[in-house]
Amino acid sequence: MSEAKIYTLFSSSKGNCTYIKHGRDEFLIDCGASARAIENALAMVGSSLADIKAIFITHEHSDHIRGLSTVCKYFGTPVYAPSASLCYIDSHIACAADLRELKSGCAVELFDSAVCPVATPHDALSSVGFRIRVGNEIIGYYTDIGHLSEGVLRGLAGCRRVVIESNHDIEMLKNGRYPYSLKQRILGDRGHLSNRACASLLPHLARHGTESFVLAHLSEENNRPETAFRESFVALLEKGFTVNGERITDAPEPDCVGEIKELRLRVASPCGITELK
Ligand SMILES: [Zn+2]
Ligand SMILES: [Zn+2]
Repeated sequence: MSEAKIYTLFSSSKGNCTYIKHGRDEFLIDCGASARAIENALAMVGSSLADIKAIFITHEHSDHIRGLSTVCKYFGTPVYAPSASLCYIDSHIACAADLRELKSGCAVELFDSAVCPVATPHDALSSVGFRIRVGNEIIGYYTDIGHLSEGVLRGLAGCRRVVIESNHDIEMLKNGRYPYSLKQRILGDRGHLSNRACASLLPHLARHGTESFVLAHLSEENNRPETAFRESFVALLEKGFTVNGERITDAPEPDCVGEIKELRLRVASPCGITELK
């Protein structure tokens, strides 16, 4: 079976939706754009909402469920979410939907993949990231994480490809125009992951086998793609890794567990398709 295809279709504080295809399985993580916009994006990767077998929701914030009501109404797609988010969705969705509860640590087995929710620290009613097994490979998907909890770090262990939040530049946020209370929320333990925290994690993951990263869920107000990219890029180069074909010639050899790999690093487009290769 060929390698799983992973595309972020929408990724920012305004809307999130990722498409994964592996073997007979086609599913979405989050549904945070209009159904029409998601349908258009899926068409660009050769799929459509009618082909989607399941939607996995990280949590109930609107940037993750905006299109869900319409998709459920017209396609009846099964929706998996952690329990409190599921109750919220049930009471806010305009039609009877096929809602199924996710329990942290209990994988949902599809035909050729297994999607395991991992509890994340975020100020939602409930929230999860995902550890996804596709053949021999593990993929990690973690956005909306206030800090790198033990559970998130365990969930990321051994992932070959990773989508990870790099939400804000701390100085841009502190000096920006958000009200004080919102700044504190974002910076808090159950808020969002900063560029700095993300960049500090990546060399550790690379040492343990992660080969490809997509930085996701960037704030449109408190971040820039080039700022997020540079922070993680430099953190990896300084530890001796070759990233997107570049390396620092006098950097130390990275102390990898196993073979040293060349790394790929990209930033997810807010509303364009980005492939996690
Ligand atoms: Zn979000
Ligand atoms: Zn959120």
